[in-house]
Order: sequence, then structure tokens, then C-alpha cells
Amino acid sequence: MEQLIPIASKLQDVLGAVGQNTQLDLPQIVVVGGQSSGKSSVLEGIVGRSFLPRGTGIVTRRPLILTLVNTRTPGYEHSQESSENQDPNSDSDDVGVEWGEFVHMPGRKFHSFQQIRVEIVRETDRLTGSNKGISNDPISLKIYSPHVLALTLVDLPGITKVPVGDQPENIEEQIQEMLLEFISNPNAIILAVTAANTDVANSDALRMAKAVDPYGNRTIGVLTKCDLMDPGTDASDVLLNRVYPLRRGYIGTVNRGQKDINEDLSIRDGLSKEEQFFSNHPVYSTDRNLMEKCGTKILAKNLNNILMHHIRDVLPDVKNRITTMMTDVTLELDALGVPGQKSRNTLGGTLLGLLSKFATNFASIIDGKALVELFGGARINYIFNDIFSTSLMTVGPFDGLTDEEVRTTITNAMGTRRALFVPEIAFDILIRRQIARLESPGIECVDLVYEELQRIAGQSEPKELNRFPFLRERLCDVVSNLLKRCMSPTQMMVENLVKIELAYINTSHPDFIGGARAVAAVTNRSVNLQPIRTSELPEGSTSETPTSQATNSQFFNAEGENEGEQTPYGPPTIVHLPSVPTTMKQTDIPPSDRELSEMHVIKSLIESYFKVVRKTFIDMVPKTIMFFLVNHVKDALQNELVSELYRESEVETLMKEADDVAQRRQNCEEMRDLLGKALEIVNEVRDFNTFSQVE
Ligand code: GDP
Ligand code: MG
Repeated sequence: MEQLIPIASKLQDVLGAVGQNTQLDLPQIVVVGGQSSGKSSVLEGIVGRSFLPRGTGIVTRRPLILTLVNTRTPGYEHSQESSENQDPNSDSDDVGVEWGEFVHMPGRKFHSFQQIRVEIVRETDRLTGSNKGISNDPISLKIYSPHVLALTLVDLPGITKVPVGDQPENIEEQIQEMLLEFISNPNAIILAVTAANTDVANSDALRMAKAVDPYGNRTIGVLTKCDLMDPGTDASDVLLNRVYPLRRGYIGTVNRGQKDINEDLSIRDGLSKEEQFFSNHPVYSTDRNLMEKCGTKILAKNLNNILMHHIRDVLPDVKNRITTMMTDVTLELDALGVPGQKSRNTLGGTLLGLLSKFATNFASIIDGKALVELFGGARINYIFNDIFSTSLMTVGPFDGLTDEEVRTTITNAMGTRRALFVPEIAFDILIRRQIARLESPGIECVDLVYEELQRIAGQSEPKELNRFPFLRERLCDVVSNLLKRCMSPTQMMVENLVKIELAYINTSHPDFIGGARAVAAVTNRSVNLQPIRTSELPEGSTSETPTSQATNSQFFNAEGENEGEQTPYGPPTIVHLPSVPTTMKQTDIPPSDRELSEMHVIKSLIESYFKVVRKTFIDMVPKTIMFFLVNHVKDALQNELVSELYRESEVETLMKEADDVAQRRQNCEEMRDLLGKALEIVNEVRDFNTFSQVE
């Protein structure tokens, strides 16, 4: 197994480098078989350490999950040489660099295998009692060693039929259930153990393995106790796969017998004893095919091959992961730039490059060269069309203007005498008032675009700018000053657009309905002298209708013709005029027919002219904003940045790197080197020749 250690631990290192959550998930090796068939002995032979309690009767009564942890120091210069210096097969009780630790006793290091065996027995008894009870609650033992392959092995109680001691009636079922739980794990390699001096046709191990692994992809048959067969008999038929064929075949072993154990025979001596047994055997030694099926070493080699295939299976994925990470690290390193550019010229060059990159990014975002939808320029366009234009269209010609106000304005405009025609001055007053209402949505539109430009500026920062916090701060200042500076002319221009409209009410505008047409339109409609239809009016204003109460108005009483005649016989009375109310409202009096039609004429004029102006405004505001703000900022940006930030004396200050950059660069470089090595290792593992090297 040791031959795989360098490969597996190298790969484990690689996986560690590419992310902790990745584990080289090597298969678990699970032994299953009848009681005292030699399961624990086989496991010990594979691991090369004597740490499991073995013996006659039911010794293993709880599952033992044995995790081998390779403690070799981190790094890729793995411990191949050191494993040559120290004997990995030594199983002396002096654990030395190796120790065991139980999950149920965290922190306590067991430095001798003897102690470990004692603890396993103690912990088994603790849960199951000392009278042969069983439990499926596993004992977890970790062995830390620089000489082990990071594997998990599971030792299980043997299959029994007849309950003994404290065992329940259904002991057979209970044990089978426990075993099934472990061997049905698709990542488990099943070592189906049968003693060679029993009949494989009766092997419960093989029967159970077949149940969970019908195609035999992960089952290896192990024939133990080949030394205990009756003289004159041998296991060659089984080993040559002729009796109960298994896809991966059988391996015959000779493990240490009870006598060997009592005499403290080391594993190493046990293994050579096994080798001698097979090579001196009259049948096995004479058949090459058979010799390839004999011995714990061959079993280990088979396991090696399976593990190696498993490792190779994960390689493409690991390689992909490394390549992706390599790309990311390289990109980040590029962004971090080359350190140690101390000369002013180079620094200046980098600075200029950054400024120009920023300006270019800014311009391309506005020009819509960015790929993301509704980004930059597209968003400004959206502000113009969907926000500004749409909401301006909802500003109506009579918003905030009641019919009463229209009527009052007309009356006031006539002054002391009734005009013959609809007074133009009333139109003039009212239309100005309505035009002025357009200003605030215009200014709001400027604000929206300004905010958008600030966003775009944020998106225009080249990634490398992160390195230079001082430059970044100054650059943000420059951009935001430039934006602010362009704001006032833009706002002023929008205000001027309104002022320009107010400066001259162009009644000859071709789209304007004009006085004559308005009058004609009203005359056509005024046969019935209907008040203006409410539907023509914007919400909130209602046209006034005559009320009876209005006829009682005091205002007209002064003109009452019968006043004097009421007292023909009395002394002549002095006629007193009622006092003029301080505020006069026309609401009290219903509008006359003439007033109604005048109001109508004025309102048609207002409506028509307002639409003309609104159309112009919808057209002109975006143009204004583009010219005075967006394009101006875009065009001036590069020069502004260079003239504000590129100063010989300041280059070094601006180009001072953030404190963490050096650290980040170093981390990235280390990562890059690590990944480079990882790639090499992956290739090395891929090219590793299992058959020539794992022996
Ligand atoms: P388990 O119950 O299946 O775990 O079996 P153990 O590994 O505890 O072994 C049961 C007994 O059989 C022990 O006394 C071992 O020493 C003995 N044993 C195991 N394998 C062999 C073998 O190949 N040859 C001989 N002679 N004895 C063996
Ligand atoms: Mg056992």
C-alpha cells in the first residue's frame, strides 16, 4: 500500500490547494465474513499494523471504522525518502511517529498498539457488555502515521447463526443488517472473507456481497487460512475462479494463527511466513497463475490497482478545477500589476494608461458598446423616452388651471370696458402660466441623467484602479467636479428653454390653432351654448354651472330699477350703494353665454399652443442634456483627468499602492506556483504506471 502513499498524498495536497471541500474520496475497504474467518487478521495484514483484537469466538462485536491519516509534513516534497529511512512495516509496540486516537476519547494519544487493542476491547464491552452482545454503533479509530495511505477500513463482526451469551434470538438478522449497511455503500470495496477450510458454496460473505454488488465490480474474494486445509487438499479451484466465479477473483492468504499471536510474531514475520508457505507449497508454487492469486501482498496490490483507478477517475475533474483557478489567479495578478515600478516614467505611464482606460470605458458605456442590457447609454435613453417624455405627456394644458381662473382672467383683462373680441391678453397671461409648469420636469430630467452619469463613472473604473486608493479617490473627485460643473449650464439651458418660449408667444406657429379658427370652432359648437364639456378639462377642475343662489347676488342689487318707486309717498330717500365687497368672486354669478364662449375660445387657444410648446420641450430637453451634459462630460473627461491628475510632482503620491496589495500579490503568486505544481502532479499521477511501480 505504501507505494500509493506519495501519489495519494500529493493529490491530497493538490486538492487541499484547490479548495478544502474537495476530498480525495478513496473507497472504504470493508471486510465481511463468517465469525473467526480471519477478517481482522486480513485487515491487519493490509495495514501492516497489529492493533486489532483477534481470536476465537466473537471478538469483533461493534463495527470498527479505522481511518488512516497521513501525517507527512505538508508540501510536495513528500516523504518518500523518509519512508525508506523508517521502516513502514515495523509493527513494534513503540508507535513513535505513529499514534492512534479514538473519536470517543478526543485528544488522548495512544502510543502503543497494545493499548489501542485494550481500548477497543474496553469500548466494545462498555456498550455491549462482556457476554458476547453486539452493537451496530461503530467505534472510530484514527491512526496517524507518516507511512500510511489515507484510507478508511471497516472491520465488522462476523456472521453468526446461533445466539450465544447475551445475544438476542435474531442475532443473525441483526448482524446481517449491520453488514449490509456498510457493504451497500457504493464507495466500499468488499473483501468477502471465507476460510479456505470451509466450503465457499456455503459462504455467507459471498452471498451477501452478491446481494449488494451483483456484478462483482467491487468485491474481492479472500480465502484465509490456506495453511489449515486438510493435507492433500488445496484451494486452487476456488482461486482460479472455477467454483464460485467472481469478477475480480480470489486471493488466498495465510495470516498469523493463534499460536503466532500468542508468540508475538510480528506482522512482518507473519508475511514472510506466508510467502514461504505459498512458495514451498507443492501445488501453488508450481502454477504461475495460482501464485498470482496467493498472498497478502498480492491482495494489497489488487487494492492498489483499484485505488489507482479510482484516483485516475477523479483526475480530469481535478485538472479542470486547477485550470480554472489558474485562470482566475492570473487575471487577478494582472489586475494587481507588476510591483516595483519605482521610476517616475513608468509610474506616469501606468497612471496615464489608467486615466485613459477610465475615459474610454466611460465613453463606451455611454455609446452603448457595453454588452449588458439597459446599461449606460441605454439607460439615459430610457430616462429620456420612458420617463421624461411619458410623464411630460401627462402634463395637461389646463393642469392647475380652473375654469373660474380662466373666466376671472378674461374679465380682468377686459378692464373697465367690455372688449369686442376675446381679449388676447387673457390668453397671453394664462399660456405663460402653463408653459412655466414645464420647467420642473425638465430640471428633474437633468437630475436623473446626472445620477446616471455618476453610476456610469462608477462602472468605468478599471479593475487595476483598486490597487491605487489615492488615485481612485482623486479620480472620483475630478469626475464628480466635472459632472457638477456641467450641471449648471445644463440646468440653465433647460430654464432658458422655458424662458425662450415665454419671450415670444408665437401665435403664427403653423401648428397653432389661431384666433379665428378657435372662434369658429366655438361658434360651431355654441348653438346650444353648452358649457365646456368636462371631459375636455383636466381632472380637478369642473366647469361652473349657473346656480339659483347666484341670482340673488347682492352685487347686482345696486342696479335695481324699482328701488325708488317703492316709496312714492314718503320723503325722497337718498340712494345708498351697497359697499363693494373687498374680494369679488365671479363664482357667485353664473357665466353668461358670451362669457362661456369666450372661455371656450381661450381654452382652445391654450390647449393648442401648450401642445406646440410641450412638443418642442420634449424634443429640446434631451438634446440640451446630451449637448451640455452627457457629450460634454464624455468629450472633456480624458483631458480633464490628465490635466488634473497627471502632474510630475504628484505621480508618486497618486500611484502609491494600497497596503494590502503587496500581500494580495504575494498570495496570488504563491497560489499560482502552487497550482502550477499541482498541475504537474496531476499529470505525473496520470502517467504513473501502476503495474510496473506498485509491486
Ligand atoms: P475474525 O473473527 O473474522 O475477525 O477473525 P480473526 O482475525 O479474529 O481470526 C480468528 C482466529 O483465526 C485468530 O485466532 C487468528 O489467529 C486465526 N487466523 C486467522 N487467519 C488465519 C490464517 O490464515 N491461518 C491460521 N492458522 N490462523 C488464522
Ligand atoms: Mg474480527
